[in-house]
Amino acid sequence: MKVDTQLAEDIALAEHDNLNIEMWGNLAKYSTFKIGGKAKYIIKAENRTQFIEAIRLFVSHDVPFYILGGASNVLIDDKDWNGGVVITKTPPTDFRYENGIVEVFAGDYLPALIHKLASWDLGGFEFLVGVPGTVGGAIVMNAGTSTKGICDFVEKIEVLGKDGGLYLISNKELQWGYRHCKLPIDGYIVRAWLKVFDKKAQDILGFVREHMAWRREHQPIDMPCAGSFFKNPEETAAGYLIDQAGLKGYRVGDAQVSTKHANFIVNLGNATASDVLAVVSHVKEVVKDKFGITLEEEVKFISHS
Ligand SMILES: Cc1cc2nc3c(=O)[nH]c(=O)nc-3n(C[C@H](O)[C@H](O)[C@H](O)COP(=O)(O)OP(=O)(O)OC[C@H]3O[C@@H](n4cnc5c(N)ncnc54)[C@H](O)[C@@H]3O)c2cc1C
Repeated sequence: MKVDTQLAEDIALAEHDNLNIEMWGNLAKYSTFKIGGKAKYIIKAENRTQFIEAIRLFVSHDVPFYILGGASNVLIDDKDWNGGVVITKTPPTDFRYENGIVEVFAGDYLPALIHKLASWDLGGFEFLVGVPGTVGGAIVMNAGTSTKGICDFVEKIEVLGKDGGLYLISNKELQWGYRHCKLPIDGYIVRAWLKVFDKKAQDILGFVREHMAWRREHQPIDMPCAGSFFKNPEETAAGYLIDQAGLKGYRVGDAQVSTKHANFIVNLGNATASDVLAVVSHVKEVVKDKFGITLEEEVKFISHS
């Protein structure tokens, strides 16, 4: 008798006790760009235990997989993915606080974490309140503004290595760069310990209100997008170059260079990843022709090929 290994694998995964497994779920609904094909298995990991278990499950079944936090810095392929995705974004349920350090799950949604900490009169990294990602995604991307980044607040992280081991890694062992952080070992961020300071909730929330009002005025944050699409070149801002090249409003299908901020590409409704990639390629070509500068993508393209 021929054993249908594919079916056996499906059943084993779907029946796994503690994990919420969605079969052939639509990735677009998880991404802030609202773009992406379907994935054979999507596991939403709501805490450290589920995250580790989800990764070990895929590894033990030889299922190729990748990790998403808030999917706010990725452009996901239109094609379907015959593998797994672990999504960690979750409201922060609890955190441990001791001597100016909070211990949090990598999937904690940053804006919600900032509000939760404020209710305990703790603050420091509220400048990240407009970053719709997770703690883990923010560390991998070294999320921040022009002056500060999450790198200034990380004490240490816990990483599940691709070898299956758990490692504690201190801030100075991480190689921080502009919108980038290289781990000393290959793996996935599971927990983080972040520095916080005594601050009055009303001061933090006052800052948050002002900051978000500024964002709403200057950035198209009410439209599906992935934030700034290109990294700023050393000498100038990517948005300035794109604007000066006359590309605001440039559109392919439903993907458009925002008319509000030229470094944002927005989804007007039914944009595909191919539409966005066509806009990206045109923008890079025109900016290179006009200014001799090659723009580098900040947003990561996730290919399903
Ligand atoms: C409206 C808007 C405004 C934004 N503003 C800013 C801003 O001001 N500053 C800024 O820096 N960014 C900004 N961003 C971009 C984005 O929000 C940040 O880069 C954010 O930190 C990404 O986190 P995420 O959880 O969404 O990561 P994702 O997009 O889900 O993933 C990004 C990368 O990290 C990896 N990853 C995620 N979690 C883990 C983990 N636990 N372990 C290992 N790898 C992991 C993923 O595999 C992927 O390669 C903005 C985005 C939007 C949509």
